[in-house]
Amino acid sequence: MSALEIRQVRKDFGATRVLKDVSLSIDSGEFLILVGPSGCGKSTLMNSIAGLEPVTSGQILIGEEDVTWCTPAERDIAMVFQSYALYPSMTVRQNIAFGLEMRKVPKAEREEAVDRVADLLQITPLLDRKPSQLSGGQRQRVAMGRALAREPKIYLFDEPLSNLDAKLRVEMRTEIKKLHLRLGTTIVYVTHDQIEAMTLADRIAVMRDGHIRQLGTPDEVYNDPADMFVAGFMGSPS
Ligand code: ADP
Ligand code: MG
Repeated sequence: MSALEIRQVRKDFGATRVLKDVSLSIDSGEFLILVGPSGCGKSTLMNSIAGLEPVTSGQILIGEEDVTWCTPAERDIAMVFQSYALYPSMTVRQNIAFGLEMRKVPKAEREEAVDRVADLLQITPLLDRKPSQLSGGQRQRVAMGRALAREPKIYLFDEPLSNLDAKLRVEMRTEIKKLHLRLGTTIVYVTHDQIEAMTLADRIAVMRDGHIRQLGTPDEVYNDPADMFVAGFMGSPS
């Protein structure tokens, strides 16, 4: 069964059609990477999946449930975005627990979740600090911890590492890979980093101008690109 299904989704901003009949079926436990040039509609698609932007037409299903018209809170999804805004006045612990509190998860359960993700992301020593006392990489871990505390059906990551320096990016990439192997969750992950795409993905969706041009394993997309655009974008050997 697919964990997430996008059926002929269109999204217009005014007169501009930004998503043009996007259809995509993502398997349970799959790590799907979405790549494509800047402005092709990746974030718009992610925001539509999350329910932050209403679609113009089409359907979005999580499992069997049609969530097209559900609010973000009603969708069993957690997100990590490029600008990982943490609440500056709250401690790391409070930041991670905040989403659970909003969902009225009991205190004991919240504390258990915080301990679990802190352990997983190795941020236990940071739990009582404020965001201003953290490095960029540590803040990114906290943002990830906040998403992971929830154990939703689906994670959406929109260029989560693009603000980090190269060394940290490689570290975090390895950690995300480990997390996926360990938790077996369904992930949709946007990146413009080809190496990130090739190393993390079960399948890669290459997007251009509001369409998905090719969907395949890293090997298929790289070695058997559907067209010149995909070949150029993935840096395929000619
Ligand atoms: P990507 O994430 O692939 O770089 P986006 O999904 O952010 O691309 O943007 C796709 C296109 O939609 C761009 O041309 C962008 O200017 C436009 N767009 C995105 N959000 C809005 C918005 N809220 N209002 C109008 N146009 C938007
Ligand atoms: Mg974007």
